[in-house]
Amino acid sequence: MKNRKKAKLKIKNIIIILIVFILLGITISIITKNNAKPKIKDKKEIKQKEKILTEQEKKYQELNNINKKLDYFKDDYLDRYLEYKKNNQNLSNEQIIKNVNMNLDLEKYEQTQPAKYQNTEKILVNKYYNVGQDYIPENLELIDNQYAIGNMKMVKVAKEAFESLSAAAKKENLNIIAMSTYRSYDYQTNLYNRYVAQDGKENADTYSGRPGHSEHQTGLAADVYNKTETYTNFERTKEYQWMQEHAHEYGFILRFPENKVDETGYQFESWHYRYVGLEAAKYIKEHNISFEEYFATVIDK
Ligand SMILES: [Zn+2]
Repeated sequence: MKNRKKAKLKIKNIIIILIVFILLGITISIITKNNAKPKIKDKKEIKQKEKILTEQEKKYQELNNINKKLDYFKDDYLDRYLEYKKNNQNLSNEQIIKNVNMNLDLEKYEQTQPAKYQNTEKILVNKYYNVGQDYIPENLELIDNQYAIGNMKMVKVAKEAFESLSAAAKKENLNIIAMSTYRSYDYQTNLYNRYVAQDGKENADTYSGRPGHSEHQTGLAADVYNKTETYTNFERTKEYQWMQEHAHEYGFILRFPENKVDETGYQFESWHYRYVGLEAAKYIKEHNISFEEYFATVIDK
């Protein structure tokens, strides 16, 4: 009896040991499978990837790794940044990123693209971004005729803001009157062609947008005057001073300031205001930047 029991125990132990070995075998095979050395093809791919990464890293280094500091740095623009830097050694890396984001490395009107954020107050239309011939903004409404001459339309949100602005100025006996707001593509075509005939293309381009490139087609811009002075003299009026202090409180900005000609592509226009919304207008005023810079560093990143 004792021997039989011993034999049974032995068999039991053997079975347990066998099971342990089988489990161990399975575990080892799984581990080695996972750690299998890459095939030669994979190795090549990995090496290539490593090479690309280091080339990219080198490029980041050329820009002092500023990509880690600026949230508007665009990887897609890396080569453009470096090319621009080559020709503009005097600029800081930060300015290089900003300028390229503003497309200042491109020829005006040469490499254009459809405007982003259409039908919103974020839209940027300039010499790099355009709207099509068919673009008519949604929600165009007539401005109350006590604040405009003739039938002047703006996008509802801008129209309401403009009326509030003009009403506030009126309380201080100042007239801020819209004299040109929404303009269709065809209207702009005639206007631009007339200016070109008068002044030549080069001059006309400093103050008039080519068709599809005028902010007036967005329904968010207004040219104003004070009823007594011609609009080109707006700069010399009390109304202009008032606008300097208060336009942003209604979501408007002076769109083409004197010190931003290189960025906007337009000469100083004391009479042209653009609705961008309260938050943007406040930011732009506080930071003393152009709408182009705001777009390139805050909106479109
Ligand atoms: Zn204008």
